[in-house]
Amino acid sequence: MADVSEDPIVAEQALPPRSPRSAAAVRLPIWAGWAGGEFAAELQRRDLGALVRGPTTTLQVNVGKLCNQACHHCHVEAGPKRTEIMPPEVFDAVLALLARSPELTTVDITGGAPELTPGFRHLVAGARRLGRHVIDRCNLTVLFEPGMEDLAPFLADHEVEIVASLPCYGPDNVDAQRGKGVFDRSIRALQLLNRLGYGGGRPELPLHLVYNPLGPSLPPPQDVLEKDYQRELDERFGVRFDRLYTITNMPIRRFADQLRRSGRDEAYMSLLVSHFNPATVEGLMCRSLLSVGWQGQLHDCDFNQMLEMPLGAGGQTIFDLESVAELAGRPVATGNHCYACTAGSGSSCGGALSAGPDRASLTSTS
Ligand code: SF4
Ligand code: SF4
Repeated sequence: MADVSEDPIVAEQALPPRSPRSAAAVRLPIWAGWAGGEFAAELQRRDLGALVRGPTTTLQVNVGKLCNQACHHCHVEAGPKRTEIMPPEVFDAVLALLARSPELTTVDITGGAPELTPGFRHLVAGARRLGRHVIDRCNLTVLFEPGMEDLAPFLADHEVEIVASLPCYGPDNVDAQRGKGVFDRSIRALQLLNRLGYGGGRPELPLHLVYNPLGPSLPPPQDVLEKDYQRELDERFGVRFDRLYTITNMPIRRFADQLRRSGRDEAYMSLLVSHFNPATVEGLMCRSLLSVGWQGQLHDCDFNQMLEMPLGAGGQTIFDLESVAELAGRPVATGNHCYACTAGSGSSCGGALSAGPDRASLTSTS
């Protein structure tokens, strides 16, 4: 596809610039900003109760903000000049918590480009020795950074699941969102991973792609888009992958700034609020995930971490927590940004949370 206006799915759901009519469509009785309490009140109004944690099975480790890219939508505000990276003592504390918490079956490593942080491979190898499943949230282009020549074989040798962003199967949208030349390098990276055995349906070498909309719209149905991606990437580039995850853009940090600058923040909020889907609440990732920041601070999810919202169970660091078992049944810290996880089909690090409403209802945004 050539650009966003030619993408029928994206164009269909795109928001108009803010107008008196669309601003009035915001259903929040009091606009309290992204950190307001309307989301919690919505759960109460719908008899869904407060959001509480279940058993914690995934430890999501954000090792810092260093990245070789600086994408427009990045909720981490990562980039090549960021210096915040996880120090060795926090990596060791993560491994120690894993050893003390057998219910943590998965370690999900994110950043920035997590592979650029010294200590990444120590964490991968240590978690695998402890028998845990490891996910690397990889931006693909990092595989071609200086010093990363052996990264792809390292990931394959340790049977690390790769979850990689590719917001379109054509170059223009990807380069517009992620930087010039990113699409070509991403395709080359996927071809390299395919040669190593990734994406061919082998359970030990899973390769999943992530789609997020270019702008302030909801993602299209995941299963439909997955088939499009599989067909287009195979026919055009011979690329194979296992699953496509659709993720809603979280209106915080860099993307929130973009929305404000273009005057579309309230319209986007209206879209998210008006498409609240109660069927997504049960599967929200904050029920089963614990997020660790680069300094060892704990949060209910990576988005809360970026908003510096402490764990709903009370401010703690990884050095204070004996076992994740003590978090079960404790409250999740929520804010109005949580509407991004419950809109339409829902959104999480593993993609959509429910089949969601039909496509026609996703277009009635104003
Ligand atoms: S590759 Fe990921 S972490 Fe890096 S700037 Fe882009 S969105 Fe942010
Ligand atoms: S942003 Fe999403 S994952 Fe995070 S606390 Fe809110 S609902 Fe849960």
